[in-house]
Amino acid sequence: MTLSCQGIGINTSREVAIGEAYLLNSGVTEISMREISKTQVDSEIDRFQAAVEATSNHLRGVREQIPGDTAPDISEFIDTHLLMLEDVAISQATISLIREKQFSAEWALQVRRDELVRVFDEMDDPYLRTRKDDVDHVVGQIQFVLAGGEPTHSDNLEGRVVVARDLTPAETIMMKNQGIAAFVTEFGGPLSHTAILARSLGIPAVVGIHQATTLFRQGETLVVDGAQGVVLADPTERILHHYRERISARLKREADLRRQVDLPTMTTDGYHIYLQANIELPEDIRISLDNRADGVGLFRTEFLYMNRPDPPSEEEQLEVYLAAVRELNGIPITIRTLDLGMDKSTGAISESGCMPAVNPALGLRAIRLCLKEPELFLPQLRAILRASAEGPVRLMIPMLSSVPELMQVLDLIERTKQELSNQHLHYDASLPIGGMIEIPAAAIAANAFARQLDFLSIGTNDLIQYTLAVDRMDEEVNFLFDPLHPAVLNLIQNTINAADQAGIPVSMCGEMAGDPHYIRLLIGMGLREMSMHPSALLEAREVIRHCNLTNLQERTERYFQLLIEQPNSTALFEEIFNLT
Ligand code: PEP
Ligand code: MG
Repeated sequence: MTLSCQGIGINTSREVAIGEAYLLNSGVTEISMREISKTQVDSEIDRFQAAVEATSNHLRGVREQIPGDTAPDISEFIDTHLLMLEDVAISQATISLIREKQFSAEWALQVRRDELVRVFDEMDDPYLRTRKDDVDHVVGQIQFVLAGGEPTHSDNLEGRVVVARDLTPAETIMMKNQGIAAFVTEFGGPLSHTAILARSLGIPAVVGIHQATTLFRQGETLVVDGAQGVVLADPTERILHHYRERISARLKREADLRRQVDLPTMTTDGYHIYLQANIELPEDIRISLDNRADGVGLFRTEFLYMNRPDPPSEEEQLEVYLAAVRELNGIPITIRTLDLGMDKSTGAISESGCMPAVNPALGLRAIRLCLKEPELFLPQLRAILRASAEGPVRLMIPMLSSVPELMQVLDLIERTKQELSNQHLHYDASLPIGGMIEIPAAAIAANAFARQLDFLSIGTNDLIQYTLAVDRMDEEVNFLFDPLHPAVLNLIQNTINAADQAGIPVSMCGEMAGDPHYIRLLIGMGLREMSMHPSALLEAREVIRHCNLTNLQERTERYFQLLIEQPNSTALFEEIFNLT
């Protein structure tokens, strides 16, 4: 049995899964040079063309299976790969190498791949540089078929555990549609977009298992324990029994929680807590409504911009926002303006040459990029404002770091409103404008932000990253990512107090809010609104219904007092909030 403990656990609604390993693009690790004889050239070219055709048929098959309501960029992602397969730069050039140099198909393709990657590497345009990943993806698929592997088909993935080096958001969504049981990747941290997406799609997953694609064998049984971040290969009957029991206990618990879905989200002493949903894609609205979210506390709009060369037009965005507003039917939605950069890079901003380069997390990201590139930002502002004419919309600004920066945004919003009025286009004149508090500077100066804004939302994913200098994407330092660090808690408390003093609502939309462990503490600290992945709503509601606010306030006060003396804040936390 292979036991791998390097993985980072992700809490999902179905945290454990058992299934057959399906190694994505497996078996093609290193291609070595191989020459063929002159007489083999024609059959080698046929072999290569057959592999290209099989890969292309596979991609077309996948494309057809994308449900109609999926974001358009997902299918564009597949189209890019199809175009690359047909591109002479890959296919014809490889055939020439087979013919002229008598290279094997695998080696010719590898040589061509290396040439292309070198060209991409030398390009100034960061968008084109990222196309290198697409080349690798396409070449990898052809190599896989050449090595005798079968391209992935939807029916093959049903109930299987996909093991891959990494998965794009598009692949994750497709695999969910294909009924995978779980996935395991070599790269990524718990806050990478793939991991967040897995959670919101309810797919058990473990990310960050080094060399997972060589560690596990095709077809062997894997137990994926997303809660512990452990993958067990070829388990014994006893282990399987243990996990099957856990899965059935989990299903029973889910059914129990489902039965409570219509109960009010209220503490035992009568305080209502507003539970909102974080959505990544419009289709997340369905589960948010099913789980009775009081609103959408965070609509991440980056997906509209990803995997495409041009940003979406105002009209395209308006259509998406309006569809969301209509589906929510009177339930408020908080649309966050573009937060591109870091893990959410796209080609959409390439033309301007303004991709963050040196240190993306500290660079031209989110609102900084939007202020620098008004032609990118203004269509979105107009679309959000116009959508507000049809239902309760709130606009939220990510990554604020200073008040003058905020004033600049507010000024742009005012001018956009004026422009819409001049054009006789409707919008909600009193649309609430809020800001994400996710940079320590903003949390420390939260009172100054609270004076200018209609609401605040604490983004703990970034707040923790920046406060503790722990890259949220880097699995090597993930153990340092600590929501209970006293510095983080003080910043959260300061933000809650600032909002209270200014008389405006404050929510939390980072992953911390959706973790049932922290809900009691957050309520004790004064938080009354939380936004989380929709699949976490049911459990959060149940936790809240067992809370007594007065009691939690006392515990929280004691916790903060003792925190000064006891450095091991996790143990103290568990003791005080009775989690042990
Ligand atoms: C956060 O930083 O906590 C947050 C909610 O935003 P994102 O994860 O999209 O950066
Ligand atoms: Mg953030």
